[in-house]
Amino acid sequence: MIPFAAAPLWLHVTGWERFPGLVHGFSRRLGDKEALLQPGWDGFVLRTVKQVHGDRVIPVSPTDGSTSRPEADGMMTTAQGILLGIATADCVPVLLVEPHRRVIAALHAGWRGTLKGICAQAIAQLTRVYNVTPHSLWVALGPAIGACCYEVGREVGEAFVRTWGGQSAQAWQPRGEKGFLDLRLINYLQCVEQGVPPPQIQSVGGCTFCDHTFASYRREGERAGRQLSIIGWR
Ligand SMILES: [Zn+2]
Repeated sequence: MIPFAAAPLWLHVTGWERFPGLVHGFSRRLGDKEALLQPGWDGFVLRTVKQVHGDRVIPVSPTDGSTSRPEADGMMTTAQGILLGIATADCVPVLLVEPHRRVIAALHAGWRGTLKGICAQAIAQLTRVYNVTPHSLWVALGPAIGACCYEVGREVGEAFVRTWGGQSAQAWQPRGEKGFLDLRLINYLQCVEQGVPPPQIQSVGGCTFCDHTFASYRREGERAGRQLSIIGWR
């Protein structure tokens, strides 16, 4: 056997270590127990939602009761000790942080949520609920199926161009009756359009279909498993 260095289980956003008290990460494919065994997570309550491919983003507070899992595709909070967790296998996990007002959010952006504009929706809500300004937000788009592999029907691609117009056309490459869609790019463009400065938006990790250390629903179907993306304040 040739020894090799295993790929690290958790990916982090370059530079976010400068936000005091912030805990965050995008995992590769998780085993059953691994989600519960991360060093530094003791004392945190992991909160998740029943993800339904919509654009609903809900505020989360310590008094909600950790067993409540409402239907939503995003969570936001300013509370300490809560880890917002999003499970994905090809869809785009999105983490947002506003370091001055100490606001965080985590989103699940598959094609339906992206088409509905979940990033734009979340930023509008963060502005309204916590009075943040988009130019002080930092955004990370996590591991997701890339334009290299994400083949969809023509009607899906054309719906994006019709709904999001302008620059979103560059995220759609038609080939006959189908085409290839760049979900991360569309989410990036939604954030820019809402006023997040481009240097404050990063992509982390590669294509979940190409890189087998990630779960990919498109590649593996029901047995794919999931990666977890988390963000919280210590
Ligand atoms: Zn790929």
